[in-house]
This record gives sequence, C-alpha cells and structure tokens, in this order.
Amino acid sequence: MERGKDCVERNRSERSKVANVAEWKPPASPEAINLSLSACRLCPRECGVNRLEGERGYCGAGRLARVAAVSVHHGEEPPISGTRGSGTIFFSHCNMKCLFCQNYPISQYGNGREMDSETLAGEMLRLRELGVHNVNFVTPTPHAPQMLEAILLARARGFDLPVVYNTNGYDALETLALLDGAVDIYLPDAKYLSADLAETASGTPDYAPHNGAAIDEMLRQVGFLSIGNDGIASRGLLVRHLVLPGRVGETEAVLAHLSGRHGPELPLSLMGQYFPAWQADTVAGFDRKLTRKEYDRAIEAAERLGLRNVFIQER
Ligand code: SF4
Repeated sequence: MERGKDCVERNRSERSKVANVAEWKPPASPEAINLSLSACRLCPRECGVNRLEGERGYCGAGRLARVAAVSVHHGEEPPISGTRGSGTIFFSHCNMKCLFCQNYPISQYGNGREMDSETLAGEMLRLRELGVHNVNFVTPTPHAPQMLEAILLARARGFDLPVVYNTNGYDALETLALLDGAVDIYLPDAKYLSADLAETASGTPDYAPHNGAAIDEMLRQVGFLSIGNDGIASRGLLVRHLVLPGRVGETEAVLAHLSGRHGPELPLSLMGQYFPAWQADTVAGFDRKLTRKEYDRAIEAAERLGLRNVFIQER
C-alpha cells in the first residue's frame, strides 16, 4: 500500500469480460420488475408500500426513478474514474438517514426530477457517447428495478460499458438477486459494525448483518475488482469505508471483520473526507472534521491487518 496518493496495488489478473450483450439473459421480466414495486421490499426496511399506486415508504421514492444529476465524475477511485471519467447518475432519495450526509438535499429532501426508464436508458447512452469508462448509478437501492429496466433497454441498443452499482450497502439479497448479471462493478459501503453507532448515525441498527450478507452476495456475483492493463476496472467488488471523527476504533473493527471474512486481498477504499454536514452538529462528536492523525491511524490499522489492495486519499 502506497501512502500519500490515491493508489492501489492492482490486481492485474486477466480482465474479465463486461456482460456480453448477445449472451446475457435478463435476470427478471418487466412484470417481475413491476411486482417488486407493488409491495416494496427492495431494502431491509421492508416497508411493503405499493409504489405503483403512489404510496411512499421510508425513503420517499415513488413509481418513477427520480434523478438529481447526470454528469461525468472524475473523483472516484482511479480504476473507476480513469482518465475519461465515470458517467454518474445520481438518484434522489435514500433508504438511510446518515446525520452527516453531504448530499442531504438529494438524499433526504428528494431534490431531482422524475425520469422513466426510457429516458434513463437514453442518459446511459448519452454518457457513453461522452467517452466515459462506465455508467455509475449512485444510491441505486430504492430505484433498483427502474435502473434494471433502463439497463435492459440500453443494452438492447448497444450499450456495452460496465455498470457500477454505487450503494450505501444497506441492500436486500432479493434485490441483489434481480441484478445478478446486470451489474458489473459493485461499490458498496461498509459503514459500521456496531449496532449502536449505526442506529445513532444512520437510523439503521441492523446495518452490519445486512451489509455483511450483501457484500457476500456481491462477491459471489462478480469477485474482487479486476483491473485491466489500461488501469481501468471492468468487473468486481470494491468496498468503501468512511472514517468517522473520534471513531477510529470502529474503523479498526470494520477492517478486521472484512479482512477476517474475505482475506487481505479484498479491494478496499479508505475514505477520509468526512466533514460535518446536514444534522452532524446536533450529535456530540460528529460536529468536526476528521483529523490527519485519525486518518493516519486508520491507514496504520489497514497495514497491521495486512490488507494489500487499499486506496488511500491525499488529504
Ligand atoms: S426502498 Fe424505500 S420504500 Fe422500499 S423498502 Fe426500502 S425504504 Fe422502504
């Protein structure tokens, strides 16, 4: 692990193929996709609301996908952003309520505009025309069926880039099963191991068991992140963890758990950009930035655990 810049000791195993349009079979029919919205259990909250009839659950998402922004993003990890950028589609709404959320106008207030799946597919194709390395769906969980519908439509029209599922990691196994074969790269968070911290910070006391099961399933589908000779990822899993101020001990516990379960080769991104946004100043300890010393301690923990494929950030 190099220090002082975004880096990873790259696994240069043979580049896996992106899902082949000709060979790929849709994992679910349009009817099945619709069914998943009629009694929404897309995430572990299992609200059971009928979103086709206008009901809304915890996250506030409706029948149509709501999109806050479509843009070319250069700030992801190097194998994701590469030189030409990652084509990001930021969904509105979120199934978590992280009190420090930097995107709260989008995630909590639902800012954005509705898009049907045809329009979403058109945006995917437009991003491809811009030359991006992949299309990256951010906070996709509440909109997984609409995203899948868009992928099917876009692939039928020749879309051939990797699809990135960039999630908070609070995902239901049934939803991930729908996506098997459609998603090439999973970018899940592993935020917490402690139920108390997950409850205080995000309102999700059952985060760790669901997150652990979700990561297992993602790994089963795509394996570890595979990076080609061009330095760009084509397939696989990369886990992200945000280090919180005053809680490096939690980071150590999360990293030890991941390393123990998946081994030292697990691709991991250690993020140190925490700053107090949204409601962070209402809870003691969340009201300040992460210090350089704390981030260094988190890096040292990764080193002690022998984790070998770790991105760290220039701060
Ligand atoms: S995706 Fe939204 S409505 Fe569906 S179960 Fe999760 S929080 Fe509830």
